[in-house]
Amino acid sequence: MGTLATDRSSYRAYTPRPFTRDERADVTILFGGLHWRAERVLSAVFASQGYRAQALPTATKEDLLTGREVADIGQCCPTSFTTGNLANFLRKESVRIGSDEVSRKYVYFTAGSCGSCRFGQYHQSYEMALRNVGLEAFRLFLMAQDSLDQGAAKGDGLEINMPFTLGTVWTLLCTDLLQSIEYQVRPFEVVEGETAKAVDESVDYLCEVFRRRPNRGRKWGPLLWHLTTPYFVNALRDVHRRFGAIEVDRLRVKPIVKITGEFYLQTVEGEPNYNIHRWLESEGAQVYPAAIAVWLDYWMRWYVQGFEDHIGIDRFARQKMQAVRTLQRLFGWTYNRLRRAMGNLPAELPDQYELRRLAAPYFHSRLSGGEGDMLVGKALWAHLHKKAHMTCELSPYACMPNTMSIGAMQGALGRHPDLLYAPLEIKGDAEVHALSRCQMILTEAKKRAQKEFDEVLRRTGMTIERGRDMLANRPEMRRATYRLPHLGVVGTAANLVLHLAGQGRR
Ligand code: SF4
Repeated sequence: MGTLATDRSSYRAYTPRPFTRDERADVTILFGGLHWRAERVLSAVFASQGYRAQALPTATKEDLLTGREVADIGQCCPTSFTTGNLANFLRKESVRIGSDEVSRKYVYFTAGSCGSCRFGQYHQSYEMALRNVGLEAFRLFLMAQDSLDQGAAKGDGLEINMPFTLGTVWTLLCTDLLQSIEYQVRPFEVVEGETAKAVDESVDYLCEVFRRRPNRGRKWGPLLWHLTTPYFVNALRDVHRRFGAIEVDRLRVKPIVKITGEFYLQTVEGEPNYNIHRWLESEGAQVYPAAIAVWLDYWMRWYVQGFEDHIGIDRFARQKMQAVRTLQRLFGWTYNRLRRAMGNLPAELPDQYELRRLAAPYFHSRLSGGEGDMLVGKALWAHLHKKAHMTCELSPYACMPNTMSIGAMQGALGRHPDLLYAPLEIKGDAEVHALSRCQMILTEAKKRAQKEFDEVLRRTGMTIERGRDMLANRPEMRRATYRLPHLGVVGTAANLVLHLAGQGRR
């Protein structure tokens, strides 16, 4: 008893040794947890700021097992994947150059939060994992999510300033748009592999664009420049032109599957989510990926709500709320400006306040953690606006917010029984089970896509042969960059038939 009362050593917070400016040239900053396009361009942003940086390899099943072994076994699976991923990378490097050298040569940089879920405990997980692999001297740093300019992080080696933060945000916007167009084109490409090649070249090109980003000072100058410059717009126009060389056959009938779920699982592309994006495509679906920008938009909405709740308590709450709303509007405006540069092909940002309104009967907007009320809101939004035939929600094993949202979705399904919803529990090691469950719902989605297509043919009096003849005379419509209007049906092929029928009448 006495020992428990007096021994405070167990409560010591993790304090990394500082990372200093003098070390910058020799130390490599490790980061990860996003999709590969964003990670590659982010490396260029780090380089443009004078850092050496390297994205960790995408996590594997082996990393999951290591994460369970060296950190808390009951933690949610994204925590196991990411801690195991870091631990395995460092272990391998330790074998190569020794653990002292690893602790000297690398630091890890990740997003942090107080979190109402596991997210608030990530650093403890990492710390435990590092201790268990004998690397307690290794340094990891958290970037708070609520400040654009955080100055030097634990020493002056890493400075999270305006140019760095803006570079990160613009990277996420540009690579979101690229990912969106990629998933709209690949399922319809006539020559296999052309889309992958265009994406690869575009990512290399964007790396160069971000590496050559001009230096506009350190405080408000960079913000003004990023908001007003045509620099990124022109770069994305070039990317759009590259895609223009790809020929597509949009008469292929495919169900559209919207991916939602916990941030890491919906974003990453690899073993942590059973390669679900590629798997769905191989099963004949068109994937509607989850943009990181939607989460950033939600994060701003979260602060707006917080200030909204303090009106009448904090006398500046209204002004603070307006300030974040302005920031949020600027964010949406920037997204749309960049989207226009890509011919308005990438998916639009859903309105956060509409998502909140849609989710409100089922999930309280003030419940935080994970994606909060957004999972319910996004599933309903995609269904009601005819954006997808089906929603596939990637729900991590042992994730509290996702479990709540799956429960809440039952209420939404009661009122919208037509909504095709596949919540997949992702454990990392139960692939067959999760994919077979997804396949069951996907089969229904395929039937709906076909039925919708047949119905449109019947309504317009068109045939597939007639459609192909019309397309043969309109080469611009066979380009990947041709923007097909959304004409009130979900599927790409069905919208194309309606569009062709409209053109035929002119
Ligand atoms: S949202 Fe879920 S999976 Fe993600 S950190 Fe929180 S508990 Fe873990």
